Amino acid sequence: MSYFIKLGLTITTAIVLSGCASGLGGGNVSPQQESALGAQQERQVLSKVRLIRSGRLYNAVRNVGSRIARVSGRPDFRWRYHLVNNPRQANAFVLPGGKVFVYSGLFKYASNEAELAAVVGHEVAHALRSHGVKGAARKQKAGLIGALLQVGMGVAGVNPQTAQQVNQVYGQGATLGYIRPYSRQNETEADSIGLMLMAKAGYDPRAALRFWAKFGRQGQRVPEYLSTHPAPASRIANIRRLMPQALALYKKSRYARRR
Ligand SMILES: [Zn+2]
Repeated sequence: MSYFIKLGLTITTAIVLSGCASGLGGGNVSPQQESALGAQQERQVLSKVRLIRSGRLYNAVRNVGSRIARVSGRPDFRWRYHLVNNPRQANAFVLPGGKVFVYSGLFKYASNEAELAAVVGHEVAHALRSHGVKGAARKQKAGLIGALLQVGMGVAGVNPQTAQQVNQVYGQGATLGYIRPYSRQNETEADSIGLMLMAKAGYDPRAALRFWAKFGRQGQRVPEYLSTHPAPASRIANIRRLMPQALALYKKSRYARRR
Protein backbone atom coordinates (compact mmCIF):
# COMPACT_ATOMS: atom_id res chain seq x y z
CA MET A 1 0.00 0.00 0.00
CA SER A 2 1.73 3.18 1.01
CA TYR A 3 4.93 4.23 2.75
CA PHE A 4 6.07 0.71 3.26
CA ILE A 5 8.00 -0.04 6.29
CA LYS A 6 10.81 -2.52 6.19
CA LEU A 7 13.31 -3.36 8.79
CA GLY A 8 16.95 -2.54 8.37
CA LEU A 9 17.74 -6.22 8.28
CA THR A 10 15.68 -6.78 5.16
CA ILE A 11 18.37 -5.79 2.76
CA THR A 12 21.40 -7.50 4.20
CA THR A 13 19.47 -10.63 5.06
CA ALA A 14 17.85 -10.86 1.65
CA ILE A 15 21.18 -10.58 -0.08
CA VAL A 16 22.90 -13.09 2.19
CA LEU A 17 20.05 -15.54 1.80
CA SER A 18 19.95 -15.21 -1.96
CA GLY A 19 23.71 -15.48 -2.23
CA CYS A 20 23.48 -12.56 -4.58
CA ALA A 21 26.59 -10.54 -3.77
CA SER A 22 26.06 -8.02 -6.52
CA GLY A 23 22.86 -6.98 -4.83
CA LEU A 24 21.03 -6.86 -8.13
CA GLY A 25 18.10 -9.01 -9.04
CA GLY A 26 17.49 -10.43 -5.61
CA GLY A 27 14.67 -12.56 -6.97
CA ASN A 28 16.49 -15.80 -6.35
CA VAL A 29 15.30 -16.21 -2.82
CA SER A 30 13.53 -19.56 -2.41
CA PRO A 31 10.03 -19.62 -0.92
CA GLN A 32 11.49 -21.28 2.19
CA GLN A 33 14.08 -18.54 2.60
CA GLU A 34 11.48 -15.89 2.00
CA SER A 35 9.24 -17.43 4.60
CA ALA A 36 12.09 -17.56 7.13
CA LEU A 37 12.98 -13.96 6.39
CA GLY A 38 9.38 -12.86 6.82
CA ALA A 39 9.04 -14.74 10.09
CA GLN A 40 12.20 -13.11 11.43
CA GLN A 41 11.00 -9.65 10.43
CA GLU A 42 7.58 -10.37 11.88
CA ARG A 43 9.15 -11.06 15.27
CA GLN A 44 11.05 -7.77 15.10
CA VAL A 45 7.96 -5.78 14.18
CA LEU A 46 5.91 -7.51 16.87
CA SER A 47 8.46 -6.45 19.45
CA LYS A 48 7.92 -2.81 18.49
CA VAL A 49 4.19 -2.36 17.95
CA ARG A 50 1.09 -2.67 20.10
CA LEU A 51 -1.47 -5.10 18.75
CA ILE A 52 -5.22 -5.16 19.10
CA ARG A 53 -6.24 -8.78 19.71
CA SER A 54 -10.00 -8.66 20.06
CA GLY A 55 -13.08 -6.72 19.09
CA ARG A 56 -14.91 -5.81 15.93
CA LEU A 57 -11.95 -4.44 13.95
CA TYR A 58 -9.74 -7.37 14.93
CA ASN A 59 -12.43 -9.82 13.83
CA ALA A 60 -12.80 -7.99 10.53
CA VAL A 61 -9.05 -8.23 9.84
CA ARG A 62 -8.97 -11.93 10.71
CA ASN A 63 -12.06 -12.74 8.68
CA VAL A 64 -11.00 -10.86 5.57
CA GLY A 65 -7.49 -12.27 5.93
CA SER A 66 -8.57 -15.87 6.13
CA ARG A 67 -10.96 -15.55 3.18
CA ILE A 68 -8.29 -13.97 1.01
CA ALA A 69 -5.64 -16.47 2.11
CA ARG A 70 -7.98 -19.28 1.06
CA VAL A 71 -8.14 -18.01 -2.53
CA SER A 72 -4.48 -16.95 -2.71
CA GLY A 73 -3.41 -20.22 -4.32
CA ARG A 74 -0.52 -20.40 -1.85
CA PRO A 75 -1.50 -22.63 1.04
CA ASP A 76 2.23 -23.10 1.68
CA PHE A 77 2.53 -19.48 2.82
CA ARG A 78 2.05 -19.07 6.55
CA TRP A 79 -0.43 -16.21 6.30
CA ARG A 80 -0.63 -14.06 9.40
CA TYR A 81 -2.76 -10.96 9.97
CA HIS A 82 -2.09 -8.44 12.72
CA LEU A 83 -4.01 -5.33 13.73
CA VAL A 84 -1.67 -2.63 15.06
CA ASN A 85 -3.07 -0.20 17.60
CA ASN A 86 -2.21 3.10 15.95
CA PRO A 87 -5.25 5.20 15.09
CA ARG A 88 -3.11 7.93 13.54
CA GLN A 89 -1.65 5.71 10.82
CA ALA A 90 -3.99 4.91 7.95
CA ASN A 91 -1.75 2.26 6.55
CA ALA A 92 -0.93 -1.40 6.06
CA PHE A 93 2.12 -3.38 5.02
CA VAL A 94 3.20 -6.94 4.35
CA LEU A 95 6.37 -8.86 5.10
CA PRO A 96 7.77 -11.60 2.85
CA GLY A 97 5.94 -14.88 3.07
CA GLY A 98 2.61 -13.27 3.94
CA LYS A 99 2.68 -11.47 7.28
CA VAL A 100 0.17 -8.66 6.94
CA PHE A 101 -0.02 -5.71 9.35
CA VAL A 102 -3.02 -3.36 9.31
CA TYR A 103 -2.94 -0.14 11.34
CA SER A 104 -6.15 0.70 13.16
CA GLY A 105 -6.11 4.17 11.56
CA LEU A 106 -6.99 2.50 8.28
CA PHE A 107 -10.55 2.12 9.51
CA LYS A 108 -11.02 5.84 9.02
CA TYR A 109 -11.26 4.94 5.33
CA ALA A 110 -12.31 1.28 5.31
CA SER A 111 -15.93 1.33 6.45
CA ASN A 112 -16.73 -2.35 5.97
CA GLU A 113 -15.10 -5.73 5.31
CA ALA A 114 -15.25 -5.36 1.54
CA GLU A 115 -13.33 -2.08 1.68
CA LEU A 116 -10.81 -3.63 4.05
CA ALA A 117 -10.51 -6.53 1.60
CA ALA A 118 -9.30 -4.06 -1.05
CA VAL A 119 -6.30 -3.26 1.16
CA VAL A 120 -5.67 -6.80 2.39
CA GLY A 121 -5.90 -8.10 -1.20
CA HIS A 122 -3.35 -5.48 -2.25
CA GLU A 123 -0.93 -6.51 0.53
CA VAL A 124 -1.38 -10.23 -0.13
CA ALA A 125 -0.62 -9.53 -3.80
CA HIS A 126 2.70 -7.89 -2.86
CA ALA A 127 3.60 -11.04 -0.90
CA LEU A 128 2.51 -13.39 -3.69
CA ARG A 129 4.67 -11.54 -6.20
CA SER A 130 7.62 -11.34 -3.74
CA HIS A 131 7.82 -7.60 -4.24
CA GLY A 132 9.45 -7.15 -0.86
CA VAL A 133 12.42 -9.43 -1.42
CA LYS A 134 12.84 -8.53 -5.07
CA GLY A 135 12.80 -4.85 -4.30
CA ALA A 136 15.16 -5.03 -1.33
CA ALA A 137 18.29 -5.74 -3.32
CA ARG A 138 17.35 -3.32 -6.07
CA LYS A 139 16.82 -0.52 -3.61
CA GLN A 140 20.06 -1.21 -1.77
CA LYS A 141 21.83 1.76 -3.28
CA ALA A 142 18.98 4.15 -2.70
CA GLY A 143 20.46 4.96 0.68
CA LEU A 144 18.51 7.06 3.07
CA ILE A 145 15.12 7.46 1.54
CA GLY A 146 14.26 10.13 4.07
CA ALA A 147 17.11 12.31 2.86
CA LEU A 148 16.10 11.76 -0.73
CA LEU A 149 12.59 12.83 0.07
CA GLN A 150 13.88 16.02 1.67
CA VAL A 151 15.93 16.85 -1.39
CA GLY A 152 13.07 15.93 -3.69
CA MET A 153 10.75 18.18 -1.80
CA GLY A 154 13.17 21.08 -1.91
CA VAL A 155 13.49 20.79 -5.65
CA ALA A 156 9.82 20.32 -6.27
CA GLY A 157 8.81 23.12 -3.93
CA VAL A 158 6.33 21.07 -1.94
CA ASN A 159 4.48 23.07 0.67
CA PRO A 160 5.75 22.86 4.28
CA GLN A 161 2.66 21.00 5.47
CA THR A 162 3.27 18.17 3.02
CA ALA A 163 6.94 18.15 3.92
CA GLN A 164 6.00 17.77 7.55
CA GLN A 165 3.64 14.93 6.74
CA VAL A 166 6.32 13.10 4.80
CA ASN A 167 8.65 13.50 7.73
CA GLN A 168 6.05 12.13 10.10
CA VAL A 169 5.59 9.10 7.91
CA TYR A 170 9.32 8.66 7.60
CA GLY A 171 9.75 9.09 11.34
CA GLN A 172 7.23 6.35 11.97
CA GLY A 173 9.14 4.00 9.67
CA ALA A 174 12.47 5.02 11.08
CA THR A 175 11.45 3.73 14.47
CA LEU A 176 10.92 0.35 12.85
CA GLY A 177 14.09 0.55 10.84
CA TYR A 178 13.79 1.41 7.20
CA ILE A 179 11.33 2.63 4.65
CA ARG A 180 11.41 1.16 1.24
CA PRO A 181 8.63 2.19 -1.10
CA TYR A 182 7.62 -0.26 -3.78
CA SER A 183 7.92 0.84 -7.36
CA ARG A 184 4.89 2.30 -9.04
CA GLN A 185 4.73 -0.75 -11.29
CA ASN A 186 4.63 -3.03 -8.23
CA GLU A 187 1.86 -0.91 -6.75
CA THR A 188 -0.27 -1.13 -9.88
CA GLU A 189 0.34 -4.87 -10.05
CA ALA A 190 -0.69 -5.26 -6.40
CA ASP A 191 -3.87 -3.26 -7.09
CA SER A 192 -4.73 -5.49 -10.05
CA ILE A 193 -4.03 -8.83 -8.38
CA GLY A 194 -5.56 -7.62 -5.12
CA LEU A 195 -8.80 -6.74 -6.90
CA MET A 196 -9.10 -10.28 -8.30
CA LEU A 197 -8.30 -11.79 -4.90
CA MET A 198 -10.99 -9.82 -3.10
CA ALA A 199 -13.50 -10.74 -5.80
CA LYS A 200 -12.61 -14.45 -5.61
CA ALA A 201 -12.96 -14.24 -1.84
CA GLY A 202 -16.53 -13.04 -2.35
CA TYR A 203 -16.11 -9.33 -1.67
CA ASP A 204 -17.79 -6.99 -4.13
CA PRO A 205 -14.83 -5.53 -6.02
CA ARG A 206 -16.64 -2.22 -6.48
CA ALA A 207 -15.81 -1.58 -2.82
CA ALA A 208 -12.18 -1.10 -3.94
CA LEU A 209 -13.25 1.97 -5.94
CA ARG A 210 -14.98 3.42 -2.90
CA PHE A 211 -12.02 2.70 -0.63
CA TRP A 212 -9.30 4.11 -2.91
CA ALA A 213 -11.40 7.20 -3.63
CA LYS A 214 -11.72 7.91 0.09
CA PHE A 215 -8.11 7.02 0.75
CA GLY A 216 -6.95 9.26 -2.07
CA ARG A 217 -8.64 12.22 -0.45
CA GLN A 218 -6.83 11.75 2.85
CA GLY A 219 -4.73 14.64 4.05
CA GLN A 220 -1.48 12.77 4.57
CA ARG A 221 -1.25 11.43 1.03
CA VAL A 222 2.19 11.95 -0.44
CA PRO A 223 2.19 13.38 -3.97
CA GLU A 224 2.68 10.74 -6.63
CA TYR A 225 6.05 12.01 -7.84
CA LEU A 226 7.46 11.57 -4.34
CA SER A 227 5.77 8.43 -3.22
CA THR A 228 6.12 6.18 -6.28
CA HIS A 229 2.51 5.28 -5.66
CA PRO A 230 -0.11 5.72 -8.33
CA ALA A 231 -2.06 8.95 -8.07
CA PRO A 232 -5.65 8.26 -7.04
CA ALA A 233 -6.95 9.03 -10.52
CA SER A 234 -4.63 6.58 -12.31
CA ARG A 235 -5.14 3.95 -9.62
CA ILE A 236 -8.90 4.22 -9.96
CA ALA A 237 -8.73 4.20 -13.76
CA ASN A 238 -6.76 0.93 -13.61
CA ILE A 239 -9.27 -0.63 -11.21
CA ARG A 240 -12.21 0.48 -13.36
CA ARG A 241 -10.60 -1.10 -16.39
CA LEU A 242 -10.34 -4.43 -14.56
CA MET A 243 -13.79 -4.25 -13.00
CA PRO A 244 -15.69 -6.43 -15.53
CA GLN A 245 -13.20 -9.26 -15.00
CA ALA A 246 -13.32 -8.81 -11.22
CA LEU A 247 -17.12 -8.76 -11.17
CA ALA A 248 -17.20 -12.02 -13.13
CA LEU A 249 -14.95 -13.65 -10.49
CA TYR A 250 -17.07 -12.19 -7.72
CA LYS A 251 -20.28 -13.67 -9.16
CA LYS A 252 -18.63 -17.10 -9.35
CA SER A 253 -17.27 -16.98 -5.80
CA ARG A 254 -18.83 -19.35 -3.32
CA TYR A 255 -19.41 -16.58 -0.82
CA ALA A 256 -21.42 -14.54 -3.31
CA ARG A 257 -23.47 -17.57 -4.33
CA ARG A 258 -24.36 -18.32 -0.75
CA ARG A 259 -26.06 -14.96 -0.31
ZN1 LIG B 1 1.38 -1.44 -2.13
